[in-house]
Amino acid sequence: MPENHPQDSQPQKRSKTKTFFVLVALVLSAWLGLVYLRVQEGKKQNRPAGLEPPAFQSLPLGSVKPEGWLLEQLQLQAGGLTGHLDEFWPDVEDSGWIGGHAEGWERAPYWLDGLVPLAYQTGDERLQRKVKRWMDYILSHQLPDGWLGPEQSPPPTGAPVGAPGSDPRDPWPQFIILKVLAQYEEATGDPRVIPAMEKDFWCLDNQLNQRPLFGWNYFRWGDFLVCLFWLYDRTHEPWLLDLAWKAATQGYDWPKYFSDLPMKDKTPRWNWFTHGVNNAMGLKVSALLYRLSGNDKYKKLSRQALQELDRYHGEANGLFSADECLAGRNPSQGTELCTIVETMYSLETNLAILGNVGDADRLEKIAFNALPAACSPDYWEHQYDEQANQVACVYVPQPVYTTNRGESNLFGLEPQYGCCTANFHQGWPKFTSHLWMATPDGGLAAVVYAPSSVETQISGQTVKVELTTDYPFSEELAFKVTTQMPLQFPFYLRIPEWAQGATLTLPDGSTQKPEAGSFQKILRQWNGTETLQLHLPMAFKVQRWFRDAVSVERGPLVFSLGLKEIWKPARPFPYQPKGDHKSDYFVVPDSPWNYALALDPGDPDKSLSLQEGTLQGDPFTLEGAPLKVAVKGRRLDDWAFATGAAEPPPQSPVESAEPEEDLTLVPYGSTRLRVTEFPLLK
Ligand SMILES: [Zn+2]
Repeated sequence: MPENHPQDSQPQKRSKTKTFFVLVALVLSAWLGLVYLRVQEGKKQNRPAGLEPPAFQSLPLGSVKPEGWLLEQLQLQAGGLTGHLDEFWPDVEDSGWIGGHAEGWERAPYWLDGLVPLAYQTGDERLQRKVKRWMDYILSHQLPDGWLGPEQSPPPTGAPVGAPGSDPRDPWPQFIILKVLAQYEEATGDPRVIPAMEKDFWCLDNQLNQRPLFGWNYFRWGDFLVCLFWLYDRTHEPWLLDLAWKAATQGYDWPKYFSDLPMKDKTPRWNWFTHGVNNAMGLKVSALLYRLSGNDKYKKLSRQALQELDRYHGEANGLFSADECLAGRNPSQGTELCTIVETMYSLETNLAILGNVGDADRLEKIAFNALPAACSPDYWEHQYDEQANQVACVYVPQPVYTTNRGESNLFGLEPQYGCCTANFHQGWPKFTSHLWMATPDGGLAAVVYAPSSVETQISGQTVKVELTTDYPFSEELAFKVTTQMPLQFPFYLRIPEWAQGATLTLPDGSTQKPEAGSFQKILRQWNGTETLQLHLPMAFKVQRWFRDAVSVERGPLVFSLGLKEIWKPARPFPYQPKGDHKSDYFVVPDSPWNYALALDPGDPDKSLSLQEGTLQGDPFTLEGAPLKVAVKGRRLDDWAFATGAAEPPPQSPVESAEPEEDLTLVPYGSTRLRVTEFPLLK
């Protein structure tokens, strides 16, 4: 064939053009490749070699033991729903996670996330046997590629016909079970756990390359980082940090969201980013990104997140409204119980990483007030939504909440929805785990206070500290430090921001005046058994809220007008445990609630007087409330009940022609019906 055959010329041209384009493509891709490598290298160069060291190191599960009133709360949980949920509630009893046919998504992992620490903190062998059965099943049914548990789940039991099940291979429940496994490993040293976690992380790493984070896991990736960091701190495998960066790049940008909250009022309709539990979990993201990047800007952003929520949605109980999306500052808006326990866990995470006294103060405020108030005293019933001003728990068809139904503040098995039924168990046990922490200089810190003891190794020696106290119902804390032989180590005590004029008495009788809002360091040679006394003065403080309403605080406790309660069975539990018949309850008031207070906010001691009793029985009941505060007030007849709740408090100051009455306030956590944010009398 002639070389210049016209019919050949075209292919030849094409071939030359093709060669040209191939060359250009090669050069371009080589150049792009170089750019990519430079960017990657640059990114890596900007990354710290490992993780930024945390301010404190959490101690392994089991090191901290609850005592006194805290132990009693954990024992009540063990005898209540936490210790029995798997015996009758289908979504745990017959969970896909244990080979059953019911929900196999978040519910069993949620329950285990509270059961595991509870079992080892209380030393309850019945609960430890349950834990072992579940862990054995889950660890022995890991799929060959590392996936843990069911790959897909049917909808929760009782969901409407046609309700969808879970997405296939939704990573969200993996995040929870990884938290469970980490705690189980700390308590038992089970050698199967770390390899199983590694395999699951490989599996998720592959999956995120194919399908980036989505849905719940797109918003809740902070908890994935918690587990990745837990493993990295033990194995120092660099690929775990690459995976953490991958998740951080794919997941929702919480630091940006919290730097200027887009929703500054009541959320008009349900959405992902104003969802209360998502916000609660998002509160830990800045602290985690600080550890990952070493960038100090995240320290500031971590503080700013809570400030933004307080500013637009803050309530007197230390929480933000979320029923179940952010709902503004009206104290009749509710907060979902999952939001309460997840806010606590985020604060515990932040406290360990950043070491801020303010995070510990806030954690105590939520734990001592909002947490017990959301549950019946025997921990069999709980609310979905709790209100700072909660004057009745009744059903109404058109409630005050943003998206939750009128039954949301009933005390029951699963009012509104069953997530809190499975998830609330972590509240007290994880709080207990975080009372004490190790310090980077080889010492020990008491970061959050409740009666407890801790046993840990310092310089190869066993050190035990027992904290004897009725705190937060007492200002006195006694720390008994025991070493086997003389040993020098630093011991840190948190001095809350509210504790002006605190006094620390050392074993030799000398005293110090530590500064409020700091960690006081005591560096000395400890010898045998010695005692430190800490006095934390709790002055009355009046806080301002929605429409200039006032609340009364003293130390970490918030005080409420506790209404007389009448508990009326509303309906039987849809599934009955063995033993006593169980019901959901309405709670209606048997005393008036619509009072305004006579207070001088600038000098609260003039109008408030404390009546101190002794701590006997359960402090989180009206009968057992160890502290009472006397105050005067008048009724406001036009402050009415509507939409199943107290109307928003009228703008303060207010006037009332009603007679002055003597009122008694009690700790918020002792009440199930209450007024906490009061109008202020002129
Ligand atoms: Zn919930």
